[in-house]
Amino acid sequence: MDILLNEAPCGYFSITDKGLIHTVNQTLLTMLGYDREELLERHIESAMSLANRMFFHTYFYPYIQLYGQVNEMYLTFRTKDGKDLPVLLNGIRRIRDGNAVIDCVALEMRKRIEHEKDIMKTKQQLEALYQETNEANHRLELLHARYEKKQQELLELNVRLETLASTDPLTGLRNRRFFQEQLEKYTALSEQSGAALSLCIIDIDRFKSINDTYGHPVGDLVLTRLAQLLQEQSAGNTVVARFGGEEFVILLPGLNQGQALAAAERYRSATETTPLGDLRITVSIGAATFRAGESGLSLLQQADQALYLSKNNGRNRVTHYNAGV
Ligand code: GH3
Ligand code: MG
Ligand code: MG
Repeated sequence: MDILLNEAPCGYFSITDKGLIHTVNQTLLTMLGYDREELLERHIESAMSLANRMFFHTYFYPYIQLYGQVNEMYLTFRTKDGKDLPVLLNGIRRIRDGNAVIDCVALEMRKRIEHEKDIMKTKQQLEALYQETNEANHRLELLHARYEKKQQELLELNVRLETLASTDPLTGLRNRRFFQEQLEKYTALSEQSGAALSLCIIDIDRFKSINDTYGHPVGDLVLTRLAQLLQEQSAGNTVVARFGGEEFVILLPGLNQGQALAAAERYRSATETTPLGDLRITVSIGAATFRAGESGLSLLQQADQALYLSKNNGRNRVTHYNAGV
Protein backbone atom coordinates (compact mmCIF):
# COMPACT_ATOMS: atom_id res chain seq x y z
CA MET A 1 0.00 0.00 0.00
CA ASP A 2 1.09 3.59 -0.67
CA ILE A 3 2.92 4.77 2.48
CA LEU A 4 0.88 8.00 2.53
CA LEU A 5 -2.35 6.01 2.51
CA ASN A 6 -0.99 3.58 5.08
CA GLU A 7 -0.15 6.39 7.48
CA ALA A 8 -2.89 8.82 6.45
CA PRO A 9 -4.52 10.78 9.30
CA CYS A 10 -7.67 8.69 8.94
CA GLY A 11 -8.49 4.99 8.92
CA TYR A 12 -8.83 3.37 5.48
CA PHE A 13 -10.07 -0.09 4.58
CA SER A 14 -11.58 -1.83 1.61
CA ILE A 15 -13.97 -4.74 1.73
CA THR A 16 -15.60 -7.06 -0.74
CA ASP A 17 -19.34 -6.97 -1.33
CA LYS A 18 -19.58 -9.73 1.29
CA GLY A 19 -17.80 -7.55 3.85
CA LEU A 20 -14.45 -9.39 3.85
CA ILE A 21 -11.54 -7.09 4.58
CA HIS A 22 -9.27 -6.77 1.60
CA THR A 23 -7.00 -3.88 2.57
CA VAL A 24 -6.56 -1.96 5.81
CA ASN A 25 -4.16 0.87 6.62
CA GLN A 26 -1.94 1.18 9.67
CA THR A 27 -3.92 4.11 11.09
CA LEU A 28 -7.07 1.99 11.39
CA LEU A 29 -5.09 -0.98 12.75
CA THR A 30 -3.65 1.27 15.45
CA MET A 31 -7.11 2.71 16.21
CA LEU A 32 -8.49 -0.81 16.63
CA GLY A 33 -5.44 -2.39 18.26
CA TYR A 34 -5.10 -5.21 15.73
CA ASP A 35 -2.18 -6.50 13.65
CA ARG A 36 -2.83 -6.54 9.92
CA GLU A 37 -2.90 -10.32 9.61
CA GLU A 38 -5.54 -10.50 12.35
CA LEU A 39 -7.98 -8.50 10.20
CA LEU A 40 -7.15 -9.33 6.56
CA GLU A 41 -9.74 -11.66 4.99
CA ARG A 42 -11.80 -11.41 8.18
CA HIS A 43 -15.29 -9.96 8.13
CA ILE A 44 -15.45 -6.21 8.87
CA GLU A 45 -18.27 -6.90 11.30
CA SER A 46 -15.89 -8.88 13.51
CA ALA A 47 -14.71 -5.43 14.68
CA MET A 48 -18.24 -4.30 15.67
CA SER A 49 -20.67 -4.87 18.51
CA LEU A 50 -23.87 -6.82 17.80
CA ALA A 51 -25.98 -3.65 17.65
CA ASN A 52 -23.59 -2.06 15.16
CA ARG A 53 -23.55 -5.19 13.02
CA MET A 54 -27.34 -4.97 12.73
CA PHE A 55 -27.07 -1.29 11.85
CA PHE A 56 -24.38 -2.03 9.27
CA HIS A 57 -26.56 -4.75 7.72
CA THR A 58 -29.74 -2.77 7.53
CA TYR A 59 -28.25 0.52 6.48
CA PHE A 60 -24.75 0.36 5.00
CA TYR A 61 -25.04 -2.58 2.58
CA PRO A 62 -28.42 -1.73 1.02
CA TYR A 63 -27.49 1.93 0.74
CA ILE A 64 -24.11 1.40 -0.92
CA GLN A 65 -25.56 -1.18 -3.33
CA LEU A 66 -28.26 1.29 -4.30
CA TYR A 67 -26.32 4.56 -4.47
CA GLY A 68 -22.72 3.41 -4.85
CA GLN A 69 -21.60 5.40 -1.84
CA VAL A 70 -22.31 6.19 1.79
CA ASN A 71 -21.40 9.52 3.32
CA GLU A 72 -20.95 10.51 6.95
CA MET A 73 -22.34 7.41 8.57
CA TYR A 74 -21.86 7.32 12.34
CA LEU A 75 -20.81 3.93 13.54
CA THR A 76 -19.04 2.40 16.51
CA PHE A 77 -16.22 -0.09 16.00
CA ARG A 78 -15.14 -2.45 18.73
CA THR A 79 -11.38 -2.44 19.43
CA LYS A 80 -9.47 -5.64 20.07
CA ASP A 81 -9.58 -4.99 23.82
CA GLY A 82 -13.35 -4.49 23.75
CA LYS A 83 -13.56 -0.69 23.80
CA ASP A 84 -15.98 1.35 21.71
CA LEU A 85 -14.47 3.45 18.92
CA PRO A 86 -16.98 5.94 17.46
CA VAL A 87 -16.18 6.89 13.85
CA LEU A 88 -17.54 8.86 10.91
CA LEU A 89 -17.54 6.54 7.89
CA ASN A 90 -17.49 7.33 4.17
CA GLY A 91 -17.59 4.52 1.61
CA ILE A 92 -17.53 4.23 -2.19
CA ARG A 93 -18.27 1.07 -4.13
CA ARG A 94 -16.20 0.57 -7.26
CA ILE A 95 -15.22 -2.10 -9.68
CA ARG A 96 -11.47 -2.78 -9.55
CA ASP A 97 -9.83 -5.43 -11.71
CA GLY A 98 -13.29 -6.77 -12.47
CA ASN A 99 -14.25 -7.17 -8.79
CA ALA A 100 -16.54 -5.01 -6.70
CA VAL A 101 -14.73 -3.37 -3.78
CA ILE A 102 -15.98 -0.93 -1.20
CA ASP A 103 -13.35 1.65 -0.19
CA CYS A 104 -14.00 3.28 3.16
CA VAL A 105 -12.39 5.95 5.32
CA ALA A 106 -13.09 6.21 9.03
CA LEU A 107 -12.44 9.30 11.12
CA GLU A 108 -12.42 8.97 14.87
CA MET A 109 -15.29 11.00 16.32
CA ARG A 110 -14.58 10.87 20.00
CA LYS A 111 -14.30 14.64 20.42
CA ARG A 112 -17.57 15.32 18.70
CA ILE A 113 -19.38 12.70 20.74
CA GLU A 114 -17.89 14.03 23.95
CA HIS A 115 -19.15 17.46 22.99
CA GLU A 116 -22.57 16.07 22.24
CA LYS A 117 -22.68 14.31 25.60
CA ASP A 118 -21.54 17.49 27.27
CA ILE A 119 -24.31 19.45 25.61
CA MET A 120 -26.92 16.85 26.55
CA LYS A 121 -25.80 17.00 30.15
CA THR A 122 -25.89 20.78 30.24
CA LYS A 123 -29.33 20.73 28.72
CA GLN A 124 -30.66 18.36 31.37
CA GLN A 125 -29.26 20.56 34.09
CA LEU A 126 -30.94 23.52 32.48
CA GLU A 127 -34.33 21.82 32.49
CA ALA A 128 -34.04 21.03 36.21
CA LEU A 129 -33.03 24.56 37.04
CA TYR A 130 -35.98 26.12 35.24
CA GLN A 131 -38.27 24.63 37.89
CA GLU A 132 -36.39 26.17 40.80
CA THR A 133 -36.92 29.56 42.50
CA ASN A 134 -36.00 33.00 41.25
CA GLU A 135 -32.71 32.82 43.13
CA ALA A 136 -31.62 30.15 40.70
CA ASN A 137 -32.15 32.45 37.74
CA HIS A 138 -28.67 33.87 37.73
CA ARG A 139 -27.09 30.42 37.69
CA LEU A 140 -29.51 29.38 35.05
CA GLU A 141 -28.37 32.17 32.77
CA LEU A 142 -24.76 31.16 33.21
CA LEU A 143 -25.53 27.58 32.33
CA HIS A 144 -27.52 28.68 29.37
CA ALA A 145 -24.59 30.67 28.09
CA ARG A 146 -22.36 27.64 28.55
CA TYR A 147 -24.81 25.52 26.62
CA GLU A 148 -24.83 27.95 23.74
CA LYS A 149 -21.07 28.21 23.76
CA LYS A 150 -20.76 24.43 23.58
CA GLN A 151 -23.22 24.31 20.76
CA GLN A 152 -21.23 26.95 18.91
CA GLU A 153 -18.05 24.99 19.55
CA LEU A 154 -19.70 21.89 18.17
CA LEU A 155 -20.71 23.72 15.02
CA GLU A 156 -17.19 25.04 14.60
CA LEU A 157 -15.75 21.62 15.28
CA ASN A 158 -17.97 20.14 12.60
CA VAL A 159 -16.80 22.71 10.07
CA ARG A 160 -13.16 22.06 11.05
CA LEU A 161 -13.64 18.29 10.79
CA GLU A 162 -15.19 18.58 7.37
CA THR A 163 -12.36 20.79 6.14
CA LEU A 164 -9.75 18.53 7.71
CA ALA A 165 -11.22 15.47 6.05
CA SER A 166 -10.83 17.02 2.61
CA THR A 167 -7.52 18.92 2.95
CA ASP A 168 -3.93 17.86 2.34
CA PRO A 169 -2.09 18.91 5.51
CA LEU A 170 1.24 19.81 3.86
CA THR A 171 0.10 21.97 0.94
CA GLY A 172 -3.37 23.04 2.09
CA LEU A 173 -4.76 21.88 -1.25
CA ARG A 174 -7.77 19.58 -1.47
CA ASN A 175 -6.82 15.96 -0.92
CA ARG A 176 -7.29 12.84 -3.04
CA ARG A 177 -10.55 11.89 -1.33
CA PHE A 178 -12.12 15.25 -2.11
CA PHE A 179 -10.79 15.15 -5.67
CA GLN A 180 -12.28 11.72 -6.28
CA GLU A 181 -15.65 12.89 -5.04
CA GLN A 182 -15.52 15.85 -7.42
CA LEU A 183 -14.37 13.64 -10.29
CA GLU A 184 -17.38 11.35 -9.80
CA LYS A 185 -19.66 14.37 -9.56
CA TYR A 186 -18.35 16.07 -12.70
CA THR A 187 -18.20 12.90 -14.83
CA ALA A 188 -21.85 12.20 -13.92
CA LEU A 189 -22.71 15.79 -14.87
CA SER A 190 -20.87 15.55 -18.19
CA GLU A 191 -22.48 12.20 -18.91
CA GLN A 192 -25.88 13.84 -18.40
CA SER A 193 -25.36 17.21 -20.05
CA GLY A 194 -22.57 16.50 -22.54
CA ALA A 195 -20.50 19.33 -21.00
CA ALA A 196 -16.77 19.14 -21.72
CA LEU A 197 -14.51 17.91 -18.92
CA SER A 198 -10.75 17.36 -18.83
CA LEU A 199 -8.19 16.33 -16.28
CA CYS A 200 -4.42 16.75 -15.81
CA ILE A 201 -1.99 14.77 -13.70
CA ILE A 202 1.13 16.75 -12.87
CA ASP A 203 4.26 15.02 -11.60
CA ILE A 204 7.45 16.82 -10.56
CA ASP A 205 10.47 15.79 -12.58
CA ARG A 206 13.35 14.15 -10.70
CA PHE A 207 11.94 15.26 -7.37
CA LYS A 208 13.81 12.58 -5.50
CA SER A 209 17.09 14.32 -6.35
CA ILE A 210 15.79 17.56 -4.73
CA ASN A 211 15.21 15.67 -1.50
CA ASP A 212 18.55 13.91 -1.84
CA THR A 213 20.45 17.13 -2.54
CA TYR A 214 18.73 19.69 -0.28
CA GLY A 215 16.91 17.54 2.27
CA HIS A 216 13.29 16.64 2.86
CA PRO A 217 12.21 20.00 4.41
CA VAL A 218 13.29 21.82 1.23
CA GLY A 219 11.39 19.19 -0.77
CA ASP A 220 8.32 19.95 1.34
CA LEU A 221 8.73 23.67 0.69
CA VAL A 222 8.90 23.06 -3.06
CA LEU A 223 5.69 21.00 -2.87
CA THR A 224 3.95 23.80 -0.97
CA ARG A 225 5.13 26.52 -3.37
CA LEU A 226 4.17 24.50 -6.43
CA ALA A 227 0.72 23.92 -4.88
CA GLN A 228 0.35 27.72 -4.52
CA LEU A 229 1.47 28.30 -8.09
CA LEU A 230 -0.95 25.74 -9.51
CA GLN A 231 -3.77 27.27 -7.50
CA GLU A 232 -2.90 30.79 -8.67
CA GLN A 233 -2.87 29.65 -12.29
CA SER A 234 -6.34 28.08 -11.98
CA ALA A 235 -9.78 29.48 -12.75
CA GLY A 236 -12.63 29.50 -10.22
CA ASN A 237 -14.29 26.16 -10.93
CA THR A 238 -11.01 24.27 -11.42
CA VAL A 239 -10.35 21.64 -8.73
CA VAL A 240 -6.66 21.50 -7.79
CA ALA A 241 -5.66 18.66 -5.46
CA ARG A 242 -2.61 16.81 -4.20
CA PHE A 243 -2.98 13.28 -5.40
CA GLY A 244 -0.13 11.97 -3.25
CA GLY A 245 3.65 12.34 -3.00
CA GLU A 246 4.84 14.76 -5.69
CA GLU A 247 1.78 14.29 -7.88
CA PHE A 248 -1.01 16.81 -8.32
CA VAL A 249 -4.31 16.47 -10.16
CA ILE A 250 -6.36 19.20 -11.75
CA LEU A 251 -9.95 18.82 -12.86
CA LEU A 252 -10.91 21.22 -15.64
CA PRO A 253 -14.71 21.45 -16.00
CA GLY A 254 -15.85 22.89 -19.34
CA LEU A 255 -12.49 22.37 -21.09
CA ASN A 256 -12.28 20.28 -24.26
CA GLN A 257 -9.12 18.56 -25.51
CA GLY A 258 -7.57 21.63 -27.11
CA GLN A 259 -8.35 23.89 -24.16
CA ALA A 260 -7.06 21.28 -21.71
CA LEU A 261 -3.78 21.05 -23.64
CA ALA A 262 -3.45 24.85 -23.54
CA ALA A 263 -4.17 24.92 -19.80
CA ALA A 264 -1.70 22.10 -19.13
CA GLU A 265 0.94 23.95 -21.16
CA ARG A 266 0.32 27.06 -19.02
CA TYR A 267 0.87 25.03 -15.83
CA ARG A 268 4.02 23.49 -17.30
CA SER A 269 5.57 26.74 -18.46
CA ALA A 270 4.60 28.68 -15.28
CA THR A 271 6.38 25.98 -13.27
CA GLU A 272 9.46 26.07 -15.47
CA THR A 273 9.79 29.85 -15.29
CA THR A 274 8.89 30.50 -11.63
CA PRO A 275 11.57 29.89 -8.97
CA LEU A 276 10.14 27.95 -5.99
CA GLY A 277 12.14 29.12 -3.00
CA ASP A 278 15.63 29.21 -4.52
CA LEU A 279 15.01 26.26 -6.80
CA ARG A 280 13.71 25.77 -10.28
CA ILE A 281 11.85 22.63 -11.18
CA THR A 282 9.98 21.22 -14.14
CA VAL A 283 6.91 19.05 -14.31
CA SER A 284 5.59 16.43 -16.69
CA ILE A 285 1.87 16.45 -17.39
CA GLY A 286 -0.62 13.89 -18.68
CA ALA A 287 -4.03 15.14 -19.83
CA ALA A 288 -7.24 13.36 -20.78
CA THR A 289 -10.70 14.46 -21.86
CA PHE A 290 -13.96 12.81 -20.85
CA ARG A 291 -15.90 10.83 -23.44
CA ALA A 292 -19.49 9.72 -22.86
CA GLY A 293 -19.79 6.24 -21.42
CA GLU A 294 -16.44 6.34 -19.62
CA SER A 295 -15.84 6.57 -15.90
CA GLY A 296 -13.89 8.99 -13.72
CA LEU A 297 -11.49 6.17 -13.01
CA SER A 298 -10.76 5.58 -16.70
CA LEU A 299 -10.21 9.31 -17.17
CA LEU A 300 -7.60 9.17 -14.42
CA GLN A 301 -5.98 6.10 -15.95
CA GLN A 302 -5.81 7.77 -19.36
CA ALA A 303 -4.18 10.88 -17.91
CA ASP A 304 -1.74 8.62 -16.07
CA GLN A 305 -0.80 6.83 -19.29
CA ALA A 306 -0.28 10.18 -20.99
CA LEU A 307 1.92 11.26 -18.06
CA TYR A 308 3.97 8.13 -18.52
CA LEU A 309 4.58 9.14 -22.15
CA SER A 310 5.59 12.67 -21.10
CA LYS A 311 8.15 11.12 -18.73
CA ASN A 312 9.42 8.66 -21.34
CA ASN A 313 9.73 11.30 -24.02
CA GLY A 314 12.11 13.41 -21.94
CA ARG A 315 10.02 15.06 -19.16
CA ASN A 316 9.05 18.79 -18.90
CA ARG A 317 6.27 18.26 -21.45
CA VAL A 318 2.55 17.79 -21.85
CA THR A 319 0.90 14.78 -23.51
CA HIS A 320 -2.80 14.35 -24.16
CA TYR A 321 -4.06 10.77 -24.05
CA ASN A 322 -5.92 11.08 -27.34
CA ALA A 323 -2.86 12.45 -29.10
CA GLY A 324 -0.25 10.37 -27.38
CA VAL A 325 -1.55 6.79 -27.06
P1 GH3 B 1 10.35 11.28 -12.10
O1 GH3 B 1 10.83 12.41 -12.92
O2 GH3 B 1 10.44 9.97 -12.80
O3 GH3 B 1 8.97 11.53 -11.59
O4 GH3 B 1 11.33 11.17 -10.88
P2 GH3 B 1 11.04 11.47 -9.36
O5 GH3 B 1 12.33 11.47 -8.61
O6 GH3 B 1 10.21 12.68 -9.23
O7 GH3 B 1 10.14 10.24 -8.97
P3 GH3 B 1 10.24 9.14 -7.85
O8 GH3 B 1 8.91 8.47 -7.86
O9 GH3 B 1 11.45 8.29 -8.04
O10 GH3 B 1 10.44 9.93 -6.52
C1 GH3 B 1 9.44 10.68 -5.95
C2 GH3 B 1 9.99 11.27 -4.70
O11 GH3 B 1 9.05 12.11 -4.07
C3 GH3 B 1 10.38 10.22 -3.69
C4 GH3 B 1 9.85 10.74 -2.39
O12 GH3 B 1 10.83 10.77 -1.40
C5 GH3 B 1 9.40 12.14 -2.71
N1 GH3 B 1 8.25 12.55 -1.93
C6 GH3 B 1 7.01 12.02 -1.92
N2 GH3 B 1 6.21 12.65 -1.03
C7 GH3 B 1 6.98 13.63 -0.46
C8 GH3 B 1 6.72 14.63 0.53
O13 GH3 B 1 5.62 14.76 1.08
N3 GH3 B 1 7.75 15.46 0.86
C9 GH3 B 1 8.98 15.34 0.28
N4 GH3 B 1 9.92 16.20 0.64
N5 GH3 B 1 9.25 14.40 -0.65
C10 GH3 B 1 8.27 13.56 -1.03
MG1 MG C 1 5.51 10.38 -9.00
MG1 MG D 1 8.25 12.66 -10.07
